[in-house]
Amino acid sequence: MKGYQFSYMLELKRTLDAKGHGVLEMPSGTGKTVSLLALIMAYQRAYPLEVTKLIYCSRTVPEIEKVIEELRKLLAFYEKQEGEKLPFLGLALSSRKNLCIHPEVMPLRFGKDVDGKCHSLTASYVPSPLSPQEFDIHGRQVPLPAGIYNLDDLKALGRRQGWCPYFLARYSVRSLLGARLHLCPHRAPSHLGRRVCPHTDGGGEGSLSRWHSAAPLTLSGLCTRFCAERLRSLLHTLEIADLADFSPLTLLANFATLVSTYAKGFTIIIEPFDDRTPTIANPILHFSCMDASLAIKPVFERFQSVIITSGTLSPLDIYPKILDFHPVTMATFTMTLARVCLCPMIIGRGNDQVAISSKFETREDIAVIRNYGNLLLEMSAVVPDGIVAFFTSYQYMESTVASWYEQGILENIQRNKLLFIETQDGAETSVALEKYQEACENGRKAILLSVARGKVSEGIDFGEWTRLSPSPGCVGRAIRGKTDYGLMVFADKRFARADKRGKLPRWIQEHLTDANLNLTVEEGVQVAKYFLRQMAQPFHREDQLGLSLLSLEQLESEETLRRIEQIAQQL
Ligand code: SF4
Repeated sequence: MKGYQFSYMLELKRTLDAKGHGVLEMPSGTGKTVSLLALIMAYQRAYPLEVTKLIYCSRTVPEIEKVIEELRKLLAFYEKQEGEKLPFLGLALSSRKNLCIHPEVMPLRFGKDVDGKCHSLTASYVPSPLSPQEFDIHGRQVPLPAGIYNLDDLKALGRRQGWCPYFLARYSVRSLLGARLHLCPHRAPSHLGRRVCPHTDGGGEGSLSRWHSAAPLTLSGLCTRFCAERLRSLLHTLEIADLADFSPLTLLANFATLVSTYAKGFTIIIEPFDDRTPTIANPILHFSCMDASLAIKPVFERFQSVIITSGTLSPLDIYPKILDFHPVTMATFTMTLARVCLCPMIIGRGNDQVAISSKFETREDIAVIRNYGNLLLEMSAVVPDGIVAFFTSYQYMESTVASWYEQGILENIQRNKLLFIETQDGAETSVALEKYQEACENGRKAILLSVARGKVSEGIDFGEWTRLSPSPGCVGRAIRGKTDYGLMVFADKRFARADKRGKLPRWIQEHLTDANLNLTVEEGVQVAKYFLRQMAQPFHREDQLGLSLLSLEQLESEETLRRIEQIAQQL
């Protein structure tokens, strides 16, 4: 047990005791998930009527799978201690796309195609060998046996029994006999059971904007407010099997319903050009939710405790404001380290003294782009394993990479390491990521160019690596454990300003020394070399005992408990 894990659990328990909401920030790789699961599981066992279910939401399926594995280990530990099997059920929830086992539907590439095809097979008026009706007849009599199920386990069970894993998981959630703990990528969890909803990875307007809440009805909205519902019922009455044929009409009806439901909080943005064809006029209308509190409102209303927790939430006080709720706990935790294994630095100038920044006005400046290229080139020569570099958008990444290619920088970088690039296509990005990890593991070494808040930036472990980043949100996974280490480069002169720096998580600020502010590329490379040489020295788990790793006796001593209380900084 580590001191900061114990401190995290104390704050979490305070939140549950108060039946309120909490915002907790603790660095990634410090055992946040297992601390959260252990505390809530123990709480459920101690107060079974207070907390009946835990719904854990995360952005990505790999992250959910990792949580399931943590839960499996935790349950195995309990069972070993108590010598009997516990009647505990935990399962991962996901979309049809990830759970389908139908041989013809499963290979479809896009989620909406899978949904449409599934609907055409399973609508009440279409007979199907794997339909939920059959599950209704046979499956509902048999509750899901106690245990922990990831997506593959559900699919294997579905194949054995001839049931659809997607409907089986959904049924289990609703069933009274059903799960005590559910995990799902965070998408409209308000239809799930009640009580505790830890909602990890920060969330934000983008990820929440799909959730709707009831709002005052206006007279002008009367005609159109229900058109989405009416269209749905019409398609059902007409027994339309393939809903995908009607998706443009459904989109239009949903749009009309949203426009007439909300008087505030949404805006219409018209973009004259498509990003992919910037010279051809092709106006696109975006209807965007600008007020995340609208979307999250039903979640706060429905769940007793909502815990927002991540490695990078700072500034924490922004969440209660944008999501419009009153947390009972807001705390940030720091790690106690037996060695300084984190080296953040701010590089604000190139070797030519030209300031580097990704701010909009200087983005296209050729000198700035060249300095970013040189930074990556020089770092690629000194960092032993992987480097992940984050850009502010896909468009910015594409134009910068094109410019590096013209300047010959890309060719030089490739002499040091293989280069992989994240794209907006999920399947392509998964392959790039897999190959990147393979290259790091087999010693070939690689660089991954990625986008802040893109597909890669959350929920992925990179092992030992360096991050070049425009945004603190991307550096949360710099270290994955106590023997790991990470170099973080904030390559933007704006981070040298105290107000901007103050918004970084406390655990990063604590390691950001005055000597590492506003460096040039060359100075940054020297700092990196020195740090990496230190990290190459042997380090053992035993070295941490008493410092970051605590034995049971130490944990019970008053002196340690006093120290632990100082780990959490309340806001
Ligand atoms: S019912 Fe299940 S297995 Fe069948 S098509 Fe739909 S998602 Fe796939």
